[in-house]
Amino acid sequence: MDQLAIGVDIGGTNTKLALVDARGTIHARQSHPTPRDLPPQQVVGEIVAAIQAFRGQAEAEGRRVEGIGFAIPHFFDGPDWVQCQTNNMPSLEGYPVRPTLAQAFGESIAMINDLSAAGIAEYAFGRGQGTERMLLIAIGTGVAISVVTREQGLVHYSWDSTGDTGMIIVDPSAESLCTCGGRGCLESLVSAPALRRRALAEIERGKDTQLARIKAERGDLEARDISQAARSGDAVAGDILDRAGFFLGVALTSYLHIFRPNLIVLGGGVGQAGSLLIAPIRRTMERLASPWYLSRLQGIEVSALGQDGQAIGAASLILQPGRYIR
Ligand SMILES: [Zn+2]
Repeated sequence: MDQLAIGVDIGGTNTKLALVDARGTIHARQSHPTPRDLPPQQVVGEIVAAIQAFRGQAEAEGRRVEGIGFAIPHFFDGPDWVQCQTNNMPSLEGYPVRPTLAQAFGESIAMINDLSAAGIAEYAFGRGQGTERMLLIAIGTGVAISVVTREQGLVHYSWDSTGDTGMIIVDPSAESLCTCGGRGCLESLVSAPALRRRALAEIERGKDTQLARIKAERGDLEARDISQAARSGDAVAGDILDRAGFFLGVALTSYLHIFRPNLIVLGGGVGQAGSLLIAPIRRTMERLASPWYLSRLQGIEVSALGQDGQAIGAASLILQPGRYIR
């Protein structure tokens, strides 16, 4: 019988549950709105109840669940998993979740930052298979990288990640503030909210673009409207992604020099723009990077696992303990 674990991807908006096997295949899935604006005991209590029902269903079908892995959109500290830097789930700040989870599920539980989970899953089951050194950059509401190597597994030194890598400075002349309080950070220039702001500013300036019509019809814009418009030849949308690709190329050149990846993978909603970003990223890296490092970079690709990576990576901490986090 397949060895199975439940991966729980706790997002700011939705909590996704997936029953995952050791090959990274999802056998069942569910999504629930993440409880908001409640005391931490209640937030965790509702998530626990959803998992218990999901596990009960699997067990009723004769499946055995080895344990539960949790991917969270922030960091945690200490043996009780005290929640830190909880920008998307402020009610959990400072709350120790491990005792509650251990009481509900026993000791077969694990917790990891969501991007680290996505990195592990992409390396084990996605584009990173067989690669010596992979760097995943997730570009969504936030921006950050995860690095996994054959030799070391997940590269981690600040909590269980490479640190707050979306805050690398790529535009020292930037005027506006980043959410971190700094200026010129990658995240403040290429995240989904940053691209949306840029598009709204172009519309405001009266530029001729499909985006203005979409905004007029729907009242708002999303980052994915920009890649759709760019794909159909809209010059303003194309310029927005070109500029984002330039800043990504600047950051990725620095990451290339530090982490020496053979493969760069683009994840997150904005990463789905694919070739529209990869072309300007390549152009920028070819101009800026050390040829020695660049010659060892074999490819830049879009994530194979997309939004499933977090849950698959969290489950793999139960199914292959010690394999990727050493
Ligand atoms: Zn910042």
